[in-house]
Amino acid sequence: MLDKKNFYINGQWVKPNSSEEINVIDPATEDNCAVITLGNKNDVDMAVKAAKEAYEYWAFSSKEERIGLLEKLYENYKKRWADIAEAITLEMGAPKDFATKLQAGTGASHIKSFIRYLKNFEFEKPLGEHAPNQRLIYEPKGVCALITPWNWPMNQVCLKVMPAIASGCTMVLKPSELAPLSSMILAEIIDEVKFPKGVFNLVNGDGATTGDALTSHPDINMISFTGSTRAGALISQNAAKDFKRVSLELGGKGANIIFKDADPEAIERGALRCFRNSGQSCNAPTRMLVEKSMYNEAIDRLKKYTESFEVGDPKKEGEHIGPVISEAQYSKIQTLIQKGIDEGAKLVAGGTGKPDGLDKGYFVKPTVFADVNNDMEVARTEIFGPVLSVIPFETEEDAIKIANDTTYGLTNYIQTQDSEKVQRVARKLRSGMVDVNGAGIAVDAPFGGFKHSGIGREAGEHGLEEFLEVKAVGGWS
Ligand code: NAD
Repeated sequence: MLDKKNFYINGQWVKPNSSEEINVIDPATEDNCAVITLGNKNDVDMAVKAAKEAYEYWAFSSKEERIGLLEKLYENYKKRWADIAEAITLEMGAPKDFATKLQAGTGASHIKSFIRYLKNFEFEKPLGEHAPNQRLIYEPKGVCALITPWNWPMNQVCLKVMPAIASGCTMVLKPSELAPLSSMILAEIIDEVKFPKGVFNLVNGDGATTGDALTSHPDINMISFTGSTRAGALISQNAAKDFKRVSLELGGKGANIIFKDADPEAIERGALRCFRNSGQSCNAPTRMLVEKSMYNEAIDRLKKYTESFEVGDPKKEGEHIGPVISEAQYSKIQTLIQKGIDEGAKLVAGGTGKPDGLDKGYFVKPTVFADVNNDMEVARTEIFGPVLSVIPFETEEDAIKIANDTTYGLTNYIQTQDSEKVQRVARKLRSGMVDVNGAGIAVDAPFGGFKHSGIGREAGEHGLEEFLEVKAVGGWS
């Protein structure tokens, strides 16, 4: 079992003040694979103090220094790529190929992308040609608390750590206590690259103690959080007391609107996007809205596709999906599948219980419900498992109404060959992102949601600006 009890504070690995420990569990075997410490208030105080002291220097560091360090970080990330992917497989069960290409891969893409945006970003500029003496200065927001979940660990950590570094902020990262191992490798890389001490600090811990101590700390100026809507609301309450800046990436219940003129792969592609990462993606298209005239055909195809969809050992190569993160998540998904059955949705494939031959580990059967009504719980709750709810619709207006009838607004999907329809519908969907015909959302496009899906945007230039305050100076000469 890996010993990962220390924290990274002020440029070194230190023994925590807290003696409370928990095991990290490999969700594929249910075995303990590492032990970490749950940081207490003293640990958080030490990390925030280091970040606050470092801010005095780092906030005024040159763009060249930041670029140089981020470039070294990127080189070392590439050297440790395989270790990061292996850690992600171990801590959250992403299969080897998926962990390597997508999980570790998106982390690398964000580092590269933020270096590019940093190089081009103008931290100082005039308000406009009409007002040359009016100066805009973009300054780092300050000491940041970065709190991340377990479902896309390196993606989410890099979406926060890299723009924080690039903007001149200093930070305390608290990764998910369920999947902290890949973040600890990132801390090792930052240590190897020799960032000025205190710029980046890592404290492990849970939400109720460590997360709460961080988000209520008076010396934290900004909180960037990804996770549940529940925790997002609690964090916002903490932040409100002293007007901390808050960026929240929360849940989703994306609709995938399949019009009858969709391309031939749209149905299977939609199911794959829902099941990928074992359904544990906030932007997963978990409600498939299918035009009535092709509804029966779509259900037949989904049944065939889902019944042959492979679930298996994440340490094996291949395109299968692995387990879900934890016993609690497994039980939640089982309860919601049963709820769908009880509410009268038609079970087309999958269902409760574990897939054949996978008795150990938190494996879930990919599941499809047909004849779902948008008021049913399987259509309203973010299940965070490989569960697809299929809802028929009659008209374009119907589809838009059903898609928007949710508290969330993260990503919606459109499948049609009619480009005018694409533009009409995309404009009316109430979500931060709309993905058309499987094109995907670019790695540097603004990522974030409307409504209960959050506040703010990550990635690319918008993600960098999240960590900056703008100051207006009149009379600049
Ligand atoms: P969570 O929100 O409880 O945990 C995410 C992170 O927030 C972890 O690091 C956790 O320690 C921390 N945290 C929790 N409560 C906190 C608090 N009060 N103050 C400060 N930090 C706190 O999420 P979870 O329990 O890991 O997952 C539960 C549900 O959240 C999932 O079923 C899913 O619906 C949703 N979720 C969404 C995303 C996303 O990307 N939008 C990611 C993970 C989970």
